[in-house]
Amino acid sequence: MNLHEYQARDILRRHGIPVPPGEVATSADQARAIAARLSGGGAVVVKAQVHAGGRGKAGGVKLARDAAEAAAHAAKILGMTIKGLVVQRVLVAPAAEIAAESYVGMVVDRASQRPTLMVSAAGGVDIEEVAAQTPEQIHRLAVDPRYGVLPHQALGLARKLYQDMTRARAAAEIMQRLYGAFYAVGASLAEINPLATTRDGALAALDAKIVIDDNELDRHPELAALRDTSAEAPSEVAAREAGLTFIKLDGSVGCCVNGAGLAMATMDLVKYYGGEPANFLDIGGSSDPQKVVSALRIITADPSVRAILFNIFGGITRGDDVANGIVQATGQLPLKVPLVIRLTGTNEELAIEILTKAGFSALTDMDEAVKQAVAKARAA
Ligand code: GDP
Ligand code: MN
Repeated sequence: MNLHEYQARDILRRHGIPVPPGEVATSADQARAIAARLSGGGAVVVKAQVHAGGRGKAGGVKLARDAAEAAAHAAKILGMTIKGLVVQRVLVAPAAEIAAESYVGMVVDRASQRPTLMVSAAGGVDIEEVAAQTPEQIHRLAVDPRYGVLPHQALGLARKLYQDMTRARAAAEIMQRLYGAFYAVGASLAEINPLATTRDGALAALDAKIVIDDNELDRHPELAALRDTSAEAPSEVAAREAGLTFIKLDGSVGCCVNGAGLAMATMDLVKYYGGEPANFLDIGGSSDPQKVVSALRIITADPSVRAILFNIFGGITRGDDVANGIVQATGQLPLKVPLVIRLTGTNEELAIEILTKAGFSALTDMDEAVKQAVAKARAA
């Protein structure tokens, strides 16, 4: 689950990381009032609150000299679309005077199977390019979760970022606290970019991004309460409510599969035959026609879907239930794109009978079905 910057800032602040004050506005007038209250007449920064990085480059982060200009920026940024997400809130904070920008991030690294601290003196909006072009400028530490980030480890990393010893000590403290926050909320990612050196030489976390592992939400109701469904893709909200595992992707072949492993294999095969999957969707192992109806509704709502592929391997899932779901769903929402069904396993004969009666044909071969779906998506 993604958090907004203002929510992530609160968490970091509670863990003792220096984060400038800031408040959220939903209107230009509110932004003006917050700016006047927090800035003491000085400059402020107005920042789009959306679940996307690169807001600065997209025009979603703007400096204002005074409260009036803050209101004008807020009026522009509110309602703006950044990476497909409409900005509904802005964060208004006193502007820091930046002398340098570092990057400090904690991620779960699958390769080392460890939480990993990554830091760079070349922080700021171009960190992706730094990582791609000069990876030697990024320093890493695989953290042993039994001990956390130890003081000498943090200081070792911090000294690669800062010559000044006082600043290096402060940065080391921040790195240890960032790990503490990451661990406490069950994050899969927690990053500060930029960790700014201000004109007076102090360090300040000017941007915060935290992604909470969804599996943590049951034991952290206070974090689950931070979910902002209005800022999430409507399809992902609908899928979660229907009990489906769904991830929206950029391609044109809508996939409806039972089981996460088969769903991934299906996506691989779609790619192999030159197509692009429009989504990952796992209807799960249960036999519930209603889930199929929900799945089809979510897939057909995506305008980039040009063909839909059902790939069902009946084990616990019964083929006839899925077939009934398909018939029911297509009765409720007439399909505008071609449908390719591959179905095999439990109650296969019955399923094919149900589908044939309703005017659909079903394949049993996965290769053939994927080839057809890719061809149909391309022809559309
Ligand atoms: P992102 O583009 O989504 O990562 O948004 P950030 O919050 O990181 O802001 C992008 C850039 O705006 C930063 O790297 C800074 O250079 C700049 N910026 C953000 N906050 C301030 C601030 O308080 N003062 C100044 N001078 N620049 C800021
Ligand atoms: Mn940033």
